[in-house]
Amino acid sequence: MLSIIYNCWRENPNLWSEQFNVGSEYMVHLCHSFNNVANGVAHLNGVHDTFRRLLEHDWLRQCAWGVSTSIHFLLKQLFKSPDHAVVSTIACPKGQTTNRAEVLPSNCCISVPLDCVNIQEFVNNMEIQLASVCQVCSEPLVRRYSFISMPKILIFDLSTHVPQLADVIMISTDRGMVKYQLKGVILYNNDHFMS
Ligand SMILES: [Zn+2]
Repeated sequence: MLSIIYNCWRENPNLWSEQFNVGSEYMVHLCHSFNNVANGVAHLNGVHDTFRRLLEHDWLRQCAWGVSTSIHFLLKQLFKSPDHAVVSTIACPKGQTTNRAEVLPSNCCISVPLDCVNIQEFVNNMEIQLASVCQVCSEPLVRRYSFISMPKILIFDLSTHVPQLADVIMISTDRGMVKYQLKGVILYNNDHFMS
C-alpha cells in the first residue's frame, strides 16, 4: 500500500502532497517522510516501520506490531476526510417509500458488491441489494448511493471478487463528468498485501 501511495506522490510531489491531504494527519506525516526518501536521507522501508510504530502508538488494539492489520482500517485512517463523499438511501425497487435515509461515514472508500462485474457499470448505477425486504411489497430493499462531493481520491473495496478494472472511471455529477485515473491495486495473497 505504501509503495502505491509513494509512487503516486513521486510523479508530482507538490500536486500529490496537496491531493493526499484530505484531512488525515497520517497523510501529512507520510508526504513529509516521502520528501526524505526523495532527498536520499531515508528509505521507504524505514518510512514503513516508523509509520507502523506511529499507528501502533495511536491504535494499539488494531495495529499491534507483528500482528495482521486490517487494510480497511488503514485506508479509513489514511483517507479520513471531514467531507462526505457519498450518501446512501434505502429504497424499495417498486418505489414504495421507506423514508430511511442515511449519510455514510466520511471517507472516500466505497464497497463494491460481490456480483459487480465492471466498476464503471457499478458507479453508473450504485445499488446494493439488501437482506431486508419492503414491508409493503416484500421485495428486497436496495441501498442506493449517490455522490454529494467528488473527493480527489476514491478507494473501491472489491472484497473477495475482482471485477473488470479499467484505467479510467468516469463519474457523472451535477457539474459534469469527473474522470478518475486508476493508480493502484492492493491484493491480498499468502497472508500478505501486495501492490
Ligand atoms: Zn415495496
